[in-house]
Amino acid sequence: MIPRALAALLFATVAVFAAEPVPDKVVVLTFDDSSASHHAVARPLLKRLGFGATFFITEGFTFRTNKRDYMTWEQIAELHRDGFEIGNHTRDHLGVTEKSLPRLAEQLEAIAARCREHGIPAPVSFAWPGNRIHVEALPILAAAGIRFARRGGEPEVPYAKGGGVPYEPDADHPLLIPTTADARPVWTLDHVKAAVAQARGGRIAVLQFHGVPDGEHPWVNTPRERFEEYMAWLKEAGCTVIALRDVARYTAGKAAPADPMTAINRRLRAAAEAQGGAASASSTAETKPSR
Ligand SMILES: [Zn+2]
Repeated sequence: MIPRALAALLFATVAVFAAEPVPDKVVVLTFDDSSASHHAVARPLLKRLGFGATFFITEGFTFRTNKRDYMTWEQIAELHRDGFEIGNHTRDHLGVTEKSLPRLAEQLEAIAARCREHGIPAPVSFAWPGNRIHVEALPILAAAGIRFARRGGEPEVPYAKGGGVPYEPDADHPLLIPTTADARPVWTLDHVKAAVAQARGGRIAVLQFHGVPDGEHPWVNTPRERFEEYMAWLKEAGCTVIALRDVARYTAGKAAPADPMTAINRRLRAAAEAQGGAASASSTAETKPSR
């Protein structure tokens, strides 16, 4: 028989290292590109609703000079102090390609350094700029302290559709977490409902927003009224709305798949079989630029 103190210790150890099961209706809420509306519109609303979220910061586009459309670092620090996650989106919004790989570490460090200057911990989450992915970047991300990285819905779903697939913490590599739905101007509440409907059976819905609204990136604009409607519905539907880093509770103790592309290739094969075609699912190490 195990002495009670030892049993308690063993239990505590398991509790710390074992992943929690994923309940239904878990939604990871993410915002890209440092839009001023993230502070002005999203911040007060998410605070009121008690939602977590990750804001992926880049100093690309006209961030340095255009403070009508982009946040200041003081505003970004305020989001951190409110409890939101600040993620890394590279200094210059660097599309990750074979050619740009040598610049990735420096681009990540530039944002991490800015965070530290403003009292924000170095980010542990990353969003692939332009939703482009490259498997050779994974060790660079890991070396920079990145634990979770969100990609787009490609290659499983073409960018033009704004769709994606639910994240499977048991199968997806933590540095290739898919977007389930990527908000577009044509969206209605039904798009949000369709994404959240996939958050069941151990799967998580990952939502990607840009500005709410976004005058600088009109092709991914979400009008303020729509955004408020979506968030109110998430609350009403009883969703658990979290930041990307919070998925750690569902991945704790799980080893990343040996082949990072396993889940992606499995979905591509299933889609090809469903279409009755023989499409190749092997050449997916790098996706095409999407924006
Ligand atoms: Zn971006």
